[in-house]
Amino acid sequence: MGNQKFTTRKFFAFFTLLALMVVAGCSPTQSGNAQKNDQEKKQRPIIVQGPMPIEAEEFSERLDDVEEEKSGTFVFYKGKLDGYPVIVTKTGKGMENTAAATALAIEKYDPVAIINQGTSGGHDPNLNVFDIVIGERTVNIASLKTPDKKEGEGIAPKTWIPMDLMASEGSAGEDPNAEKIRYYKGDPDLIQAAKAVKDQHKKGKVVEGTIGSGDFWNNEVDRIQWFHSKFGTSVEEMEGAAGAQIAKAYDVPFLGIRILSNNKTNGGKYNPDTAAANQEYVFEVVKEHITNLTKTK
Ligand code: SAH
Repeated sequence: MGNQKFTTRKFFAFFTLLALMVVAGCSPTQSGNAQKNDQEKKQRPIIVQGPMPIEAEEFSERLDDVEEEKSGTFVFYKGKLDGYPVIVTKTGKGMENTAAATALAIEKYDPVAIINQGTSGGHDPNLNVFDIVIGERTVNIASLKTPDKKEGEGIAPKTWIPMDLMASEGSAGEDPNAEKIRYYKGDPDLIQAAKAVKDQHKKGKVVEGTIGSGDFWNNEVDRIQWFHSKFGTSVEEMEGAAGAQIAKAYDVPFLGIRILSNNKTNGGKYNPDTAAANQEYVFEVVKEHITNLTKTK
């Protein structure tokens, strides 16, 4: 008896739902719904990534209404900037952490843009500690193949060949088409926002350039110069290209922004205070980008 009553109720609920769906489907307020969807689209969050605590926490403290969410070792500080959703991610150092944190962020939060930022080492002797590089392009400088050498013939790093892992689904080692450099372009709208606020950074200059990444810390000046001339790198770090590669896989706009914390080519000593200075600048970039995103067209 009780069961029968439950079934009747369920039946009624089902029909009510069906009727509502039909009404919604034919409703003349569809354009209103479309407008609402547009509004929601504008509110897709901006992700700001920083590898180390000193490269993420300064930024997260500047956000309003911050909620912390953890996934594995990755920390997402979900907050607001000028009322717009911004999520700071502490990714951890290196390519693997960054790739995973980027894919997770895209799947979880459907971001409108990703900025990967932090410290770096100079490859260009004209750049000093506290100068900032806007990543016109980002490249994996640890993706390399060696030439053939027999036992006893030694190793010759200056003849190593760039290897493009995205060239094909075939063997990267055998495919001559993979013997090239893969650059990931920075998003033009994000670059424009970064250029618009250049003057806000007072502790050094802001230039556009090439960010080279790899799980590698280069201290050999000849090797640094080899990268600088072969790959055109302005700076090196350990994350940008991993984020750029994954962002491209999902077609999400991406930009790397790196401050020099050291520069072996001109004696620039490591200074950890650069991490905070970069976040101050990136904060201005994000504000500018939000203004552009929310402008009524
Ligand atoms: N010396 C630092 C360690 C930084 S570890 C310390 O003791 O705190 C590497 C991190 O710094 C990575 O996230 C990388 O992106 C960044 N980095 C800064 N300068 C670098 C350089 N010259 N080469 C490689 N990574 C660099």
